[in-house]
Amino acid sequence: MIRNVQAVIPGVATSDGAGVKLRRSLGGQQQARLDPFLMLDEFSSNDPNDYVAGFPAHPHRGFETVTYMLEGHMLHEDHLGNQGHLKTGGVQWMTAGRGIIHSEMPQQVSGAMRGFQLWINLPASEKMKAPAYQDIQVEDIPTVHLANGGSLKVIAGTYSDSKKIVAGPVGEITTQPLFLDVHLPADAQFEHAIPEAHNAFLYVYEGALEVGDPLKGVPRQAAVVLGRGDRLKVKASSEGAQWIMLAALPLGEPIVQYGPFVMNTRAEIEQAIDDYQNNRFVIAQ
Ligand code: MN
Repeated sequence: MIRNVQAVIPGVATSDGAGVKLRRSLGGQQQARLDPFLMLDEFSSNDPNDYVAGFPAHPHRGFETVTYMLEGHMLHEDHLGNQGHLKTGGVQWMTAGRGIIHSEMPQQVSGAMRGFQLWINLPASEKMKAPAYQDIQVEDIPTVHLANGGSLKVIAGTYSDSKKIVAGPVGEITTQPLFLDVHLPADAQFEHAIPEAHNAFLYVYEGALEVGDPLKGVPRQAAVVLGRGDRLKVKASSEGAQWIMLAALPLGEPIVQYGPFVMNTRAEIEQAIDDYQNNRFVIAQ
């Protein structure tokens, strides 16, 4: 069964960090989530005033942050001494677990900075695990060339068609995410399996796309939530389309969020605030 559009969550202009301009769709309001996805931000600007202040030191606990750089260069540093460069086409998959204090600072003062940050929840059993990173460079992300003239990148999960199966570099994630970046030329159609148990959405960042059966146009720069089914069907408009596809297993657990802390209960949030204020994120636990 083809998945049809169930809901559209428009990206709303906002700012975060020290004033980075971005567009937030999922997570703009706390009820506008799609389990296990908590938030999706798109940042895209050619004006350094929109991004140069970056994201100075701030904490996270209880979930994962995934940064996909379409264009630009950011330096990531955390309180444990980890350092990583996020460059054009690369991905940082950070499992904050019990606590990370980090900064994400642009390493450029001109030119375009463009990409996404996605927050994915962790199950209760993993919220307090040790922090971990998967820093993935552009050359480690496989590109699949499609028969319709398009192409896609497999960031997480698996692409498959009648001829090949291509697995992305991100592994060992309990929610079994699928993360594709798909580029379609004018009027190209594309179909792909999405496991029935997964929640799924897509986000068009260039061009325009029709989705479902029958095909129906969707807005650009919005989280397009898909209903139940086991297959995705889309068609690019006459201008083509560039879009990301996300799917993952829902957790079905209560969510209590206080900014960058996402836990299951209010007591766990109070503990997170207390741990942060009393420097218990900084001491190796
Ligand atoms: Mn962060």
